[in-house]
Amino acid sequence: MPKHRKPPKRPLLIYYIGSLLVILLFNMLIMPLIMNGRFAEVDYSTFLRAIEENRVQQVEMSADTQEIRYVAVDNNGRLQSYVTVAMPDPNLLERLSSSENEIRFSRIKPTQPSPIMTFLFSFILPLFIIFGLGRLFSKRFQARWEGAMSFGKSNARIYVEAQTGKTFADVAGQDEAKEALQEIVDFLHDPEKYTRIGATLPKGALLVGPPGTGKTLLAQAVAGEAQVPFFSISGSEFVEMFVGVGAAKVRDLFKQATEKAPCIVFIDEIDTIGKRRGEGGFSGNDEREQTLNQLLTEMDGFDGRKGVVLLAATNRPESLDPALLRPGRFDRRIPVELPDLAGRIAILKVHAAKVNMSEHVDFEVIARSTAGASGADLANIINEAALRAVRMGRDAVEQEDLEESVEVVIAGYQRKNAAISPKEKELIAYHEIGHALVAAKQTNSAPVHKITIIPRTSGALGYTMQVEEDERYLLTKEEAMARIATLTGGRAAEELIFNSSTTGAANDIEKATKLARAMVTRYGMSEEFGMVALETVTNPYLGGDTTLTCSSETAAAVDKAVIEIIRKAHATAVNILKDNMDKLHELARHLLQKETLTGEEFMEILNG
Ligand code: ADP
Ligand code: MG
Ligand code: ZN
Repeated sequence: MPKHRKPPKRPLLIYYIGSLLVILLFNMLIMPLIMNGRFAEVDYSTFLRAIEENRVQQVEMSADTQEIRYVAVDNNGRLQSYVTVAMPDPNLLERLSSSENEIRFSRIKPTQPSPIMTFLFSFILPLFIIFGLGRLFSKRFQARWEGAMSFGKSNARIYVEAQTGKTFADVAGQDEAKEALQEIVDFLHDPEKYTRIGATLPKGALLVGPPGTGKTLLAQAVAGEAQVPFFSISGSEFVEMFVGVGAAKVRDLFKQATEKAPCIVFIDEIDTIGKRRGEGGFSGNDEREQTLNQLLTEMDGFDGRKGVVLLAATNRPESLDPALLRPGRFDRRIPVELPDLAGRIAILKVHAAKVNMSEHVDFEVIARSTAGASGADLANIINEAALRAVRMGRDAVEQEDLEESVEVVIAGYQRKNAAISPKEKELIAYHEIGHALVAAKQTNSAPVHKITIIPRTSGALGYTMQVEEDERYLLTKEEAMARIATLTGGRAAEELIFNSSTTGAANDIEKATKLARAMVTRYGMSEEFGMVALETVTNPYLGGDTTLTCSSETAAAVDKAVIEIIRKAHATAVNILKDNMDKLHELARHLLQKETLTGEEFMEILNG
């Protein structure tokens, strides 16, 4: 087998050259200094005088007789080495030999060190230096490298019961989800009960649902209830710049988890790493795919009976790789949907327990007016109400704080000092009454709860709030039509009274079009197409974006059908308003005066 040699490393070469330079410099500069430092330089006459004065003891001459080194007694009586440049002096030898004190003289021994020393110094020593330096640097570099990459260390935090402080009691509603998770908790406490029958727990459970419905909260509650180690990590923490690091983190996470089993591993927002592979042509992402592949491998690798349960949460289940969802991986899907009426009441109560509430608060009214709100919205409403109570100088939250904060969460804060001209104010009043009147005069439409023309920070200049009498899960074709008619009611009133149209209806138009479109393409409520799916929803939990699944001719026909529906609804609205013109004027006058009408006030004026 051919051996793969690593390409020569540049750093090593640099060390080598560096070391050579240092040695060269040492030889050239330092050594002569050391050598010569021992000799005092004197001139030739001084040397001759020293001989005459019998102070010289020893003389050495260079081979070319250019340089003379000698040892003499100096003025203080100490022996000292001197060097001098020789003069052409044929008598020198005679002088030396005839000197009274017997001078020993000789040639300077060739100063070259022994070949062995030369070899040692010029080859072996540099090698040692290089080797040492290399080791030192590589060690330090390696440490730094490891630090930077934090290879093989996932930063999953381990939660135990006390640390999240959350239990199932903190999660209101979501009973099905709690039940499913309860089973997992139960298994981890008493696996015997399950293994006796031969049941294995699902390896993974995936919490899916819209944002803010309490998925993360549920996982934290599981951590609090299970009393086993709970590893919690967010999908985004696996996203790394370097290919392979994310995968290493996954590996480490599961290694830790198997060591600590029984335990729970929770991956929040798993769609960050779990996205469908090979999507999007050239934008392939090796790192992400590797991480996902590693996750899939690890999930296959661990045994459900060992007691490692994988929990994950996402609000984009449609974007997950199918391999993640197949049986044996996340084989249990736990829907965490938006709360229904009872759920909203329960959530309001859970959060209200943490603030000072007046006894007269009716949570049901609030829950009714917040259809479609998530648990996070409701928690926010309670908090906004508490803040408002403080602002009002109260020491408990009243119903009106809650009602106002519902509007704050839905439409933003009131803009009290927004300068709106009387003319525009009048137009807005007619627009809103147009909505309300069309709603009230249709049998299939939800009752009006509140009408207001106080502008909001969200940009709304006024709005009409309708609240269903009871929780609705289905929408009939008639109700859908009534809803579209109500949406067109505002514009219809503008046209009838002012004979013009304004930009104020933009939001109504958007909503009406969306609903009409859905009726044609998804709900099978049009005569032309019947029960044919012409659009598919790409992400049910986030905005409900859709993609057309029909030919362009059909798309054109769909547009026509949508236009037809809205035209029909608009005509209905215009007719209703024409038939109730006097009420329209009367109600608009009241609204202009009071700025806000409650549902009861509205009905009173309408009926009386
Ligand atoms: P998700 O992870 O589904 O986006 P979270 O679990 O982060 O939502 O929820 C956000 C916040 O909303 C929670 O901290 C909690 O205060 C509140 N909340 C959501 N659902 C519930 C619920 N069912 N009961 C109580 N509080 C809830
Ligand atoms: Mg979350
Ligand atoms: Zn409107």
